[in-house]
Amino acid sequence: MSERVIPLVDQRSRSRAINLPTQVVPATGLLGDALGRPLRDLRISVTDRCNFRCSYCMPKEVFDKDYPYLPHSALLSFEEITRVARQFVAHGVQKIRLTGGEPLLRKHIEVLIGQLADLRTVEGQPLDITLTTNGSLLERKAQALKDAGLQRVTVSLDGLDDTVFRAMNDVDFPVQDVLRGIEAAQAAGLGPIKVNMVVKRGTNDHEILPMARHFKGTGVVLRFIEYMDVGATNGWRMDEVLPSAEVVAHIQRELPLVQLDAAAPGETAERWGYADGSGEIGVISSVTQAFCRDCNRARLSTEGKLYLCLFASEGHDLKPLVRGNTTDEQLASAIAGIWQGRSDRYSELRASLPPDAASDGKRRVEMSYIGG
Ligand code: SF4
Repeated sequence: MSERVIPLVDQRSRSRAINLPTQVVPATGLLGDALGRPLRDLRISVTDRCNFRCSYCMPKEVFDKDYPYLPHSALLSFEEITRVARQFVAHGVQKIRLTGGEPLLRKHIEVLIGQLADLRTVEGQPLDITLTTNGSLLERKAQALKDAGLQRVTVSLDGLDDTVFRAMNDVDFPVQDVLRGIEAAQAAGLGPIKVNMVVKRGTNDHEILPMARHFKGTGVVLRFIEYMDVGATNGWRMDEVLPSAEVVAHIQRELPLVQLDAAAPGETAERWGYADGSGEIGVISSVTQAFCRDCNRARLSTEGKLYLCLFASEGHDLKPLVRGNTTDEQLASAIAGIWQGRSDRYSELRASLPPDAASDGKRRVEMSYIGG
């Protein structure tokens, strides 16, 4: 566990006020940003709390008992989240991912899922509603989530060995309970299930093959995520990043792989299938193979701030509009104006920074606040 945690400067307060557009622009279902990327994917953080302390996301030294978590009154209600989501859907969003913190800590989240499941895309289709969880509560909740209208889950799991798991997540939580959560989600029909493993060189990279062997042939899609300089507190260093190309080569030596085409535009994972047809893996390479050119993702924080990039340093505060005397058309127009001005591409820019440069000098908002 690296001891280089950087003290927190609260970025949550940094946000731009939104001026209501003088002219209401009706939503057309197709909204491009300044780089021509269509808005298709909305990630909604429903809580800033978590019961894990992953070192790359919520280091315990910073997110301790004195950390100023958001009071419940500051959070958007389920009705407010659904109203905001409806405007994004009118602009062409087809996929909603619920995140956190740990989203299953938000009480009655099934109610929100039910409300979102009633929404329809501009083509009249059901939305693709998914959720990213650390799996700690999944065994208990899987069936209720499915019954409420959730289609799929992604589970974060950084190793099979309890000692390694503890080294990455800093909690005494048994891996077996997460694996049982994955089984319960499969039994409930929340598949195909994706498992995300953040790979940190020198900490859990020796777990790559054990994880691949474990999930091969189970229908679960295992994805390896390059360790990222998200937020400003995880003490990120480039020499702890294991490039995805090395991950694939490492697996290839024992388990032959063939490259697969992307499943959808804007997909973050590069797909590799097992040559024997027994399943696939993915690699998500924000550090060494940036994928900003077709990034179609917006992020809504748990208190209603809109972020245009995972590595953003400030958001756009929608809450005054949501709680103010604003029509849906005005809210949709405000969102349109923000997205159309978007030119974020941090990972591409990071690549142009000198290798030892930790960042572009801007303090980024914490991933636990806007969701991964
Ligand atoms: S760095 Fe930002 S713009 Fe690039 S892929 Fe990630 S979220 Fe999208």
